[in-house]
Amino acid sequence: MNERSAPALRVVRMAAKCPICGKSGVPDYRPFCSKRCADIDLGRWLKEGYRVPTEEGPGDEEAPDERGPIGRPTGQRG
Ligand SMILES: [Zn+2]
Repeated sequence: MNERSAPALRVVRMAAKCPICGKSGVPDYRPFCSKRCADIDLGRWLKEGYRVPTEEGPGDEEAPDERGPIGRPTGQRG
């Protein structure tokens, strides 16, 4: 019993489309069609990177005190 059921390795020949402009990508700049598009994507990626929120908050910002006049004697004379 020499049953070898190796999965047929299918060569992926799908022409990856450039995510930027939709043209078929070239091997050199896969999946982009050109360096230009690759740069554009990289630029977008970096831009979003700038917006990554930091773990630490803005710090000790003085929050608006919502303390009312409760506990404050008004017009009380002893
Ligand atoms: Zn492109």
